[in-house]
Amino acid sequence: MGSLLIKNARLILDDCIKDGAVLAEDGRIIRILDDDSGIHSDCVADLKGMYLSPGFVETHFHGGGMCDFSDGSDDAFLTAIDTFLSHGATTLFPTIIATTENEIWKAIRAFSEAVSIEGDKVTLPGLHLEGPYLSSAQKGSLPERFLRDPDKNEYKAIAESGVIRRWTLAPERSGSMELIDYLVSRSIVPSIGHSDAEYSCVLEAFRHGCHLITHLYSAMSTIVRRGGFRFPGIIESAFCIEGMDSEIIADGAHIPPELLRMVWRHIGKNQLRLTTDASRCAGSDVKEATIGSRENGTPIIVEDGVAKLLDRSAFGGSIATPDRLIRVMWKTAGVPLVDAVKMYTATPSRVFGLEKKGRLAEGMDADFVCFDESVSIRGVMTRSFRSGVFA
Ligand SMILES: [Zn+2]
Repeated sequence: MGSLLIKNARLILDDCIKDGAVLAEDGRIIRILDDDSGIHSDCVADLKGMYLSPGFVETHFHGGGMCDFSDGSDDAFLTAIDTFLSHGATTLFPTIIATTENEIWKAIRAFSEAVSIEGDKVTLPGLHLEGPYLSSAQKGSLPERFLRDPDKNEYKAIAESGVIRRWTLAPERSGSMELIDYLVSRSIVPSIGHSDAEYSCVLEAFRHGCHLITHLYSAMSTIVRRGGFRFPGIIESAFCIEGMDSEIIADGAHIPPELLRMVWRHIGKNQLRLTTDASRCAGSDVKEATIGSRENGTPIIVEDGVAKLLDRSAFGGSIATPDRLIRVMWKTAGVPLVDAVKMYTATPSRVFGLEKKGRLAEGMDADFVCFDESVSIRGVMTRSFRSGVFA
């Protein structure tokens, strides 16, 4: 692969942005430089003052480019992954919505095929299953007919496929604590979402090793009153339980900018991750589609910059590509750029144990995204692949 010098860049580092250069060799960052004079390399990219960020780490998206992972074909995986790669995400967790057992298995097979084709180009740590052990009361846009209590035989067989990295579940469902114990024992990250749990149940799940909340504010419980007394839900748990990590859909539609800013202030850049939770509509301009598979999915329309159910009672995932999240957090919610980037790079890398990802620092993988002042992506480069040219 040889060496690569990326110079005249505005480097987005851990806690600051500064002008400089990066020298990479054989897919690894070997030096961060203030001054690149006298440095020789096989290849040079001059960014002419544009930003250089670590590649984005997208941990929850269902598709893109008009393909959904539940379609269950390797073509669907490749199209959606390439769509997200071209918008700056170099580490990706394809997510399967609650569906039939048959479709989950089809997606597992297609994912394994995609890894064998794309595994050198992008980083695909594993699949994220969003269900089917979720709450009907907080189904959001998920089809209720697929939601159920954990089934031990089913989840053990799925986990043994070896490709599941994260599993979103509702801890109040019967058998969920046993499921959490099992997932933790297999190093699969459990995550609370589409759930009506109260604080006491969330705390119990946390103590079993469930340290993550899926799309905070979307499809989850908040304070309820019984006999005058108030009982906190999942939203409050995200703020009160020390050590709990959260993700938030930062497309600017699911969560208004003032709330995005509040969550950043109070949960903070080290425990909050950005996600698109994108539907197949991301990276396309269609107005009608389905979420989930073409066969078993739910129809949606696209308006106001988001996908909605036909009766407009709920959102059906976002249409955001990765660059939009940075733009929304920085330009609309008023969060510093360095923090917005951290919540989409270093923090998700830490949560999922990806030690070589998410930072511009010596020894890290050479996954880069270059963008301009309006967060238009001008180039993406991964440790073994060059997509387009930095220009
Ligand atoms: Zn989702």
